[in-house]
Amino acid sequence: MAAERIIRLIKRTPLFPHLALFGNAVRLRPELLELNLSRERTVELFKQYVEVVELETVRFCNRRCSWCPNSFIDRISTKKFMPDGIWQDIVSKLSSIDYAGTFVWSRYSEATADPSLSQKIRQVRGAMPRAWIAVISNGDYLTEKLLLEMAESGLNRLCLDAYIDYEGGYSVEKATNAVATMAQRLKCVLGITREGMSAVEARCFHPRAPSVWITIASINLSVAENFYNRSGLVKGPFPEGFVRTSPCSRPFRNVTIDWDGCVMPCCDTMSDAPQHRGYVVTKLKEGEVDVIDAYRMLAAWRRKLCGFQVGNAPCRNCNISCYPSSALSRGVYGMLGGVAMHSPRFVSPLLYRISGGHRQRYRP
Ligand code: SF4
Ligand code: SF4
Repeated sequence: MAAERIIRLIKRTPLFPHLALFGNAVRLRPELLELNLSRERTVELFKQYVEVVELETVRFCNRRCSWCPNSFIDRISTKKFMPDGIWQDIVSKLSSIDYAGTFVWSRYSEATADPSLSQKIRQVRGAMPRAWIAVISNGDYLTEKLLLEMAESGLNRLCLDAYIDYEGGYSVEKATNAVATMAQRLKCVLGITREGMSAVEARCFHPRAPSVWITIASINLSVAENFYNRSGLVKGPFPEGFVRTSPCSRPFRNVTIDWDGCVMPCCDTMSDAPQHRGYVVTKLKEGEVDVIDAYRMLAAWRRKLCGFQVGNAPCRNCNISCYPSSALSRGVYGMLGGVAMHSPRFVSPLLYRISGGHRQRYRP
């Protein structure tokens, strides 16, 4: 609780909106902006900087939430699965470099709609013993049996969204009930709970799977702080005329893969959306393009996102981890980024560690 109080205090300081700045600046390396890079050096950079490999193994979600592109993209009438060749290649390439970051089922799909999810988790655990394996789910298909199966397969983290009926607006009572009902259905024990008009979030655990860190959250999606407009795809409580000017670290630290192997610049973009089709970085193809190549190719996006400027779509109206462009923020970014860019190879990863960059996300 003391830690939560400290975080709340930090959030109130004028420095808070700028914290992402430090992480962005210290990730700068000339090679990360280079498209023609040797395989060997790409592997080194991948191991140093990639914190999250996020993907979906099924193209399907049973919901059509109004704040999600699935509200207008049909991902409900048919289920399509990631081709096995692409899946096997992702796992084997990450295994070959002893990937130790986060491996997470996320994107715009319901992970538990893939009947082989537990089997796939087991495969990832065997291939990447040091990885942090996470699943994000709306919980609708989740049963106690599946939870225990996933735990036994090697899952570390389960992030569950307990959605409420937003018609009558958000209330702490509704959100608390939704969280408690889900916990009860899964026979989980509720731990520390954070309650507020922004969200109700409970840390919980299952007595027979204590090693899996579970959170159940019911978020108020009608407040601007919780709303992401998915680079202009969805409308919501978003400041009129907002234009992004700050750098972005996503293509430095994430590799984002859609069900068919399309690699996207970040979690905010979706290859299914007609407006985002042009943003596909590459498509994974066995024997031709793999996940390591994809990280090298993201250099084109990194170049566009390493300075303070008004970008083009999709970044122009993206509100993810942005901060004000002021003389102070530009000055600090320029100074730290300059050190990271021009110093010997070991300095940038070191600075990155010191600045709080984590190798694994979704950790407690
Ligand atoms: S992916 Fe998540 S947010 Fe999108 S429709 Fe499905 S449950 Fe809703
Ligand atoms: S600014 Fe937004 S849209 Fe652009 S890469 Fe970053 S997260 Fe994605």
